[in-house]
Amino acid sequence: MKNIILTADRPTGNLHIGHFVGSLRERVRMQNETEYDDLFVMIADAQALTDNADNPQKIRDNVMEVMLDYLAVGLDPQKTTFCLQSEITALPEITLYYMNLVSLPRLLRNPTVKTEIGMRGFDKNTGVPVGFACYPISQAADITAFKANLIPVGEDQEPMLEQTREIVRAFNRIYKTDILVECKAMLGRNKESMRLPGTDGNAKMSKSIGNCIYLCDEPDVIKKKVNSIATAPRKLEEPGDVENSVLFTYLRAFCEDKHFEMFYPEYANLKELEAAYAKGGLGDGKVKKFLFDVLNDVLTPIRERRKEMSKHIPEILEILKKGTQKANQVADNTLHEIKRAMGIDYYSDNSFAEEQIKKYSNK
Ligand code: ATP
Ligand code: MG
Repeated sequence: MKNIILTADRPTGNLHIGHFVGSLRERVRMQNETEYDDLFVMIADAQALTDNADNPQKIRDNVMEVMLDYLAVGLDPQKTTFCLQSEITALPEITLYYMNLVSLPRLLRNPTVKTEIGMRGFDKNTGVPVGFACYPISQAADITAFKANLIPVGEDQEPMLEQTREIVRAFNRIYKTDILVECKAMLGRNKESMRLPGTDGNAKMSKSIGNCIYLCDEPDVIKKKVNSIATAPRKLEEPGDVENSVLFTYLRAFCEDKHFEMFYPEYANLKELEAAYAKGGLGDGKVKKFLFDVLNDVLTPIRERRKEMSKHIPEILEILKKGTQKANQVADNTLHEIKRAMGIDYYSDNSFAEEQIKKYSNK
């Protein structure tokens, strides 16, 4: 079986450190260290419009921002195909056929969609846009159009992948085919990375909430955001709670032993720091200082590469255009196979015409 990797990001803002540990770091690792036949990274602008229909300019403005973030973290145009969702014409058509395979109650049971509906604050009078409620189906179209089987994503995407697998199984069963491929999530390195909380303590760092440390943030901004993270009030000598601390959650997602050598030689590794904090006597100020140093160490090369890349906009535009052309071909081929399996490829050859002529000539 082929290994085809695909992921997408909504161009609703700059990418943040949650994206980095939840998905981007895994994509770069897979790009550089694994064997695969194709790796697609899609800018999901059509999906972003499902809850931003009144603000297409925001989506347009963020396409290049997201491209710069991709290149800054080390996604390499030689190894990765970048593409723009709304320009891939087969996707909405595939979505349309999949819509018949999913029931409305099943769609609305999706826990991530439920949480997001709560967060988005859609207009009380008009309610949830149909396009938003259906985005898991269009995501199934994205994944299956490329026959992707490996999807590096955060934990919030698991229900989308489950929905995709259900559609794949239903399609293959009903239309007696095996053209569609089941996918699986490639989750981040630990539970903290799979769903990084926001700087406000919210369960998920998310562009739409604005509780983010962005990959392009300057050091003074990172410092301010780290210092603003709320910590549980306690006396210095009292034991600290490492499990529920956002500071330690970030450290578990980001820090490596080398960071202790570089910035905090009193401790050899995170286990030792956690033990000291849990015992009592170690203040949050010191942990914040260390966390800033760690984040800044990880983000500085990304920020610098991003600045360098922003001098090459014409080349980046060309990379995205070329990638989208390639993606269009792949998705068109799959659409063709889908229509053939469903028996609605009327004009791809003469079989429909011949069948009808034969049928009526016998009457
Ligand atoms: P929006 O608020 O517009 O939905 P977002 O911050 O949730 O934006 P997406 O573009 O929806 O970002 O997600 C892109 C990818 O990043 C997905 O694979 C998602 O699982 C992952 N991701 C997003 N936020 C986090 C997070 N806080 N922790 C881990 N992974 C995340
Ligand atoms: Mg999201």
